[in-house]
Amino acid sequence: MERIQFAEEQIRRYSRHIILQDIGSTGVKKLIGSTIGIVGAGGLGCPVVQMLAAAGIGHLKIIDGDNVELSNLPRQPLHFTTDVGRKKVDSILEKIIALNSEIQVEIFPEYLTKANAIKFLQGCDYVVDASDNFATKFLINDVCIHLGIPFNIAGVVQWMGQILSVDPGKTTCYRCIFHTISSGDESMSCSAAGFINTVPSFAGILQANEAIKSIVGLHQKFTNGLFTFDLRENSFDFIPIKQNPECAACSHPEIPFYKTENYNVDLDQCNIQ
Ligand SMILES: [Zn+2]
Repeated sequence: MERIQFAEEQIRRYSRHIILQDIGSTGVKKLIGSTIGIVGAGGLGCPVVQMLAAAGIGHLKIIDGDNVELSNLPRQPLHFTTDVGRKKVDSILEKIIALNSEIQVEIFPEYLTKANAIKFLQGCDYVVDASDNFATKFLINDVCIHLGIPFNIAGVVQWMGQILSVDPGKTTCYRCIFHTISSGDESMSCSAAGFINTVPSFAGILQANEAIKSIVGLHQKFTNGLFTFDLRENSFDFIPIKQNPECAACSHPEIPFYKTENYNVDLDQCNIQ
């Protein structure tokens, strides 16, 4: 068995993971050696990035073209009042360096588009969707299926949320379930519907948890179905959904499906919060 060498500070920093069954020193080494891409630095992105940076993921790539607004602050806990007007990726980078300066963080102050998606996501061991719109979720799905990268996608609205984790080619993907973007979807996905500030952080913590499990070699649990929750009722459910043999993304992974689909929203313009 490979002998794992940690620096003294790493042993102290990651001690609770090192002594945890199913993670251990081997798991911590995997976390330190991994690269995770996070699309979005807002309500979902803040808790995802915070947990992954704290866990010692060695290389984080964060993409978001948005600026911090005052209305973001209740649900985006890595952005402070003094950050209003700054790029979200600049604000988040500052907090992450203060939290764990051992890790490498790359920031991209732009939106994920058809043009940059493969370049941004390539080389990641795992990808977390922390966007707020269907177009970006389909894009992440299609590119990750194409590149063979495990990932998860979350959606939140009002008091509710849902999460899907995907092992490409093996489990149900986002397009297996939702097929395509239908007209009217975007209005429901936008902040117009509102949501309670605890919902995105709750979802984000679970997304980070799925990512960590995937990296250390444990099975993701939100595969082949949707985990759903309602924080008004405190109800939690898992709806099993089988992989669709006709799925346009899963059945032809050699071509990212977004290249052939005629999206009814312009992905080059899609916005992430
Ligand atoms: Zn599929």
